Amino acid sequence: MSALSDYGRPGDEGYENRTPLFESNSPALKFKVYAKCSTTKARASTMVLPHYTARTPMFMPVGTMGTMKGITTKQLEELDCHVILGNTYHLGNRPGKDLLDKAGGLHKFMNWSRGMLTDSGGFQMVSLLKLAKITEEGVEFRNPHDDSLMMLTPEMSIELQNSIGADIMMQLDDVVSSLTTGPRVEEAMHRSIRWLDRCIAAHKNPDRQNLFPIVQGGLDIKLRTCSARALSERDSPGYAIGGLSGGEAKDQFWRMVSLSTDILPENKPRYCMGVGYAEDLVVCSALGVDMYDCVFPTRTARFGNALTMSGSLSLKSGKYAKDFTPISKDCDCPTCKTYTRAYLTTVVAKENVGCHLISVHNIAFQMQLMRSIRRAILHDDFPNFVRRFMSIRFGNTVPLWIINALKSVNIDLTVADESGYLATSIDSDFKK
Ligand SMILES: [Zn+2]
Repeated sequence: MSALSDYGRPGDEGYENRTPLFESNSPALKFKVYAKCSTTKARASTMVLPHYTARTPMFMPVGTMGTMKGITTKQLEELDCHVILGNTYHLGNRPGKDLLDKAGGLHKFMNWSRGMLTDSGGFQMVSLLKLAKITEEGVEFRNPHDDSLMMLTPEMSIELQNSIGADIMMQLDDVVSSLTTGPRVEEAMHRSIRWLDRCIAAHKNPDRQNLFPIVQGGLDIKLRTCSARALSERDSPGYAIGGLSGGEAKDQFWRMVSLSTDILPENKPRYCMGVGYAEDLVVCSALGVDMYDCVFPTRTARFGNALTMSGSLSLKSGKYAKDFTPISKDCDCPTCKTYTRAYLTTVVAKENVGCHLISVHNIAFQMQLMRSIRRAILHDDFPNFVRRFMSIRFGNTVPLWIINALKSVNIDLTVADESGYLATSIDSDFKK
C-alpha cells in the first residue's frame, strides 16, 4: 500500500483469521489485542461490549442531548461509528432519569444499537456552571432553573448513568484544569480515587455496564504515577486518562499520556479523554492509547471547517468558491460523493444544511483515519504510516512535541527513511 488513503477504505482491516495475542475478560467487556506494533506501543484490538464489538484504536463522536445535532443514528452507523458518547449532565436534564427508566435506557430511547459511553456529568457541570463548588461529598451547584442548591455526588452520577444504560460509564472525578499547580492537584487526585470507590460501590449493573476510572494528577509525574497505580489495583474493565487537553503544552501532554499507558494494565483498554485532532490521534495511538473522544470534528464543522489529512479547509473563507472538487477525493462519505467545495461554500453561510454536510464529512474523516491506523498496525506497517501521515500533514517541518513523542517510541522523523522523508522541528503547535 503506497497512498495513505488506501488504508482508510472500508473492508478487511486485517483482523480476519487471527487469534488474540492476549485479552481480558470482564463481565461486560472482553478486550482482545490482535496485533502489537513491533516498533511503537500501538496495538489493534477489539472490545466486545454488551451492544457492539468495537475495533480499536477508535474515535467516539460526542452526541450532546442524545442526538448528534441533526445526524441520525442510521447515518452514524453508515459512517462506521462503533461507540458514541452521551453527556450525562444534559441527559439528566432532558429526557431525565424517569423518562429514561420508562424507555428502558438511552439505546432504546434514541434507537441506537451500537456502543455508547457516558461521562460522569461532573466536567460538564464544572465547565458550564460558574457557581459549581467541589466538596468531599460531591460537586455542589446552583440549579440554573430555580436557583436552588443541588449536589452531584459519585452515587448520583452512577445512578443516572445506570438509568442511561451506556456500555461504558465514567467515574465522577474531581476535575482541575491542567494549568492548575500546587496542592490542589494532589487533593483532586486523591479525592478522585475516593470517589472512584464510592462509584464502584454504587454501581448496580456490573454485569452489563462497565465503569472506567480516570487517571488524574495534572502534569506532575509523581502524582500521575500514584493515580495510575492506585487505579490499576481496582482491576477495572478499562481505564481513562483524564485532566489533559486543557491548554497545557503539548510536550507535557504526551509525556503524561505515555507515562499513564506505561503503568495501566496492558490487557485493558485505555481511553484518552478530549483528544480529537488527527495528529494527536496518530501520536497517542503510537503511545498505546485505544479510545478517544472530542467535540472538535462536529464543533469545527459548525464554523465551516472541513477536515482533511493536510489540515482544515475553511469553506466560509470563500477561497473555494470556484473549486468544483469534493472536500477530499479520497473520502467516500455522502458529502464528498455528492457535493463540491464550491457548492458547500454557497450553503455553509446559510447555517444548518452546510454545517450538517460538513459534520457528516468530518465524522467520516475521523473514522477513516482510525481505520487507517488499525489497518497499519495489523499489517505491522504503522511506523511507515506515521511517517507518511506526518509528511502529508506537516511537510518537512514537524512540531517539536511530535518529534519528541515519536522518538520515545522509536520513530525518529529527523532521520531519513527509505523514501527519503525526514523532518526538522518547529517549536510550535500545529494550526487547528
Ligand atoms: Zn467526505
